[in-house]
Amino acid sequence: MLFIVSELILVMLIDSHTHLEMEDFDGDRDAVVERARQAGVEFMITVGTSITYCRKALDLASRYGEVYVAVGIHPHDVKDIDDGTYDELRKLVAMEKVVAYGEIGLDFFRDLSPRQVQMERFGEQLELAEEVDLPVIIHDREAHREILDMLGSRRERLRGVIHCFSGDLTMARQCLDLGFSISVPGTVTFDKATELQRVVQYVPLEFLLVETDAPYLAPQPYRGKRNEPAYVVKTAAKIAELKGLSWEEVACQTTKNAKTLFGLNGRDRPGGSSLRPVGLPSII
Ligand SMILES: [Zn+2]
Ligand SMILES: [Zn+2]
Repeated sequence: MLFIVSELILVMLIDSHTHLEMEDFDGDRDAVVERARQAGVEFMITVGTSITYCRKALDLASRYGEVYVAVGIHPHDVKDIDDGTYDELRKLVAMEKVVAYGEIGLDFFRDLSPRQVQMERFGEQLELAEEVDLPVIIHDREAHREILDMLGSRRERLRGVIHCFSGDLTMARQCLDLGFSISVPGTVTFDKATELQRVVQYVPLEFLLVETDAPYLAPQPYRGKRNEPAYVVKTAAKIAELKGLSWEEVACQTTKNAKTLFGLNGRDRPGGSSLRPVGLPSII
């Protein structure tokens, strides 16, 4: 189903963060991509979390025109980084269809890599992202203060998005002040996601992206099932409801935001913007 706003413009969406390379999709990946097309998903950014998954993600991008890739080592896996990893990452980021560096960050919820190691490897990967001039995709679980400190110390040189945003209004404001966008996952459709819903109401549409993080975090009415890129439609619909906007406005603007950040407009390298929000209401 495509949404036709006028005779000339088709409204489409970008799933800015998915994991199509994961084994969950090995059995029916073609059908998953086809359902995304039918739902109006124009592009998907599939996010490699290890060298093995990054290679698989790049292979998928060569097979599916609408699939682009983010390359990086997830905080869960940074304990496995060794001397050769960064050389390999430098080769991978130079490949066609790589539009972002990530997901990188800190996960103090599951702690699958020691915290000190996570902090050190996060710093190194931020440096690499700067070196290769790509926008970053940030993973933050229960490490809000440390994430803000580390991004803040490099604010002039970085651009990117906080994926699966899990902070409060104050943190949202701080991320915007750093020039970062905020990506909204399907959990915004859950009744209990009141803080995230407040964040969505507060943040100007020009700074929001939508994502699935599939196969995780399926939105209502699919909660508990495997998530997939087609379901990003549900997230956009919820944002429209929360902000009192039309679905088309949310789809058009979030797509424009993702295209600008990841350089999906024609053949440009990812550019991002130096846009900072002005005139935001204060947080009470
Ligand atoms: Zn993540
Ligand atoms: Zn992810």
